[in-house]
Amino acid sequence: MDNTIYLDNNATTPVAPEVREAMMPFLDRLYGNPSSIHTFGGQVKAHVDKARQRLADLVGCHPTEIIFTSCGTESDNTAITSALDCYPERRHLITTRVEHPGVKNLCQALGQGGRGRPLYRVTEIPVDAEGLLDVAAFEDALDDSTAVVSVMWANNETGVLFPVETVGALCRDRGVLFHTDAIQAVGKIPMDLADLPIDMLSLSGHKLHAPKGIGALYVRRGTRFSPHIIGGHQESNRRGGTESVPLIVALGKAAELAKQNLHKENTEVAALRDRLENDLLEKAPDAHVNGSREQRLPNTTNISFEYVEGEAILLMLDQHGICASSGSACTTGSLEPSHVLRAMGVPFTAAHGSIRFSLSIYNTREEIDKVLEVVPPIIQRLRQISPFGHDKAPAKSKA
Ligand code: PLP
Repeated sequence: MDNTIYLDNNATTPVAPEVREAMMPFLDRLYGNPSSIHTFGGQVKAHVDKARQRLADLVGCHPTEIIFTSCGTESDNTAITSALDCYPERRHLITTRVEHPGVKNLCQALGQGGRGRPLYRVTEIPVDAEGLLDVAAFEDALDDSTAVVSVMWANNETGVLFPVETVGALCRDRGVLFHTDAIQAVGKIPMDLADLPIDMLSLSGHKLHAPKGIGALYVRRGTRFSPHIIGGHQESNRRGGTESVPLIVALGKAAELAKQNLHKENTEVAALRDRLENDLLEKAPDAHVNGSREQRLPNTTNISFEYVEGEAILLMLDQHGICASSGSACTTGSLEPSHVLRAMGVPFTAAHGSIRFSLSIYNTREEIDKVLEVVPPIIQRLRQISPFGHDKAPAKSKA
């Protein structure tokens, strides 16, 4: 898809050419098992160690605090179930209303007595109209029966950032484990875990230009831990299963690049995103940004175009080779607005017309120019046939 303009990087990212190149030898001649005691296996292990170091350098931790997993969802599940195993007498979980299903659906299942575990009380902390966390409600909810708090660092739909330092400090005061799903944050904003009160953190390779199928969980030294996958001694007995060396090497390389590109992400990518956002707001009337524009990832904008359906916008963008995503999902024939926008109290018609554009370092000014040329006429055309708010939408021909 040569002419594709890819603005859906919060869904997944293209694999960086350097990452592809770094992993190839491990699909070919360097196929040894890192656990083998022969020199060949040892050579491969050295590359796994190097990748672990590169990832640790990106997030500011010690390499022994990194456990490689198969994806972000596995990291999320591991963190939460580990906390429950380690604190069996505590039967309360705290999370937010806007988590990714990797956390949200697990917590909901635990709140219904699922997964072969006792029944947990689950508190979902609300957000305000800007998508910002209600820290006072969080403080009220935290108590001595809380086994774990899982609060995301950056929201995948709006890019809104949560105050993980404040949340972590409150958890630490109460002796409660704090996990953060940082899958959208890692590689986009600077982080130094050595200085933060975070016990566990999830990340995922395919959000930072590594392939799909690789993730990692940071577990602070000294944190009680119980493995999710029980098997061999791999990952220092914290995750069984022969390591996926090509993918681990890929993630290490992607982490190294992400660290190098962090400044670019926060200057050039942010400037492209701002240009896209400001021009769209100017050129398309009745459009507004969902979520705080101050406390946000540099690459994401979520814009509601009133009186049109997001899915229709996406289909028309697709005809121009432009990839983005919408804030509603077509399930069982009804367009259900996203739980994130609902939690923010975004009105039905606005939630239906919401589009998320998420950029990366590979997007260019020319691509953004093209999107700015294409989107306003699409919105105008769709409003002419809009079933919502006919009074506001430009009049349709009476013929
Ligand atoms: N958490 C967040 C915030 C995400 O954005 C995603 C992916 O979209 C996940 C978890 C799941 O990650 P993975 O696809 O690696 O399982």
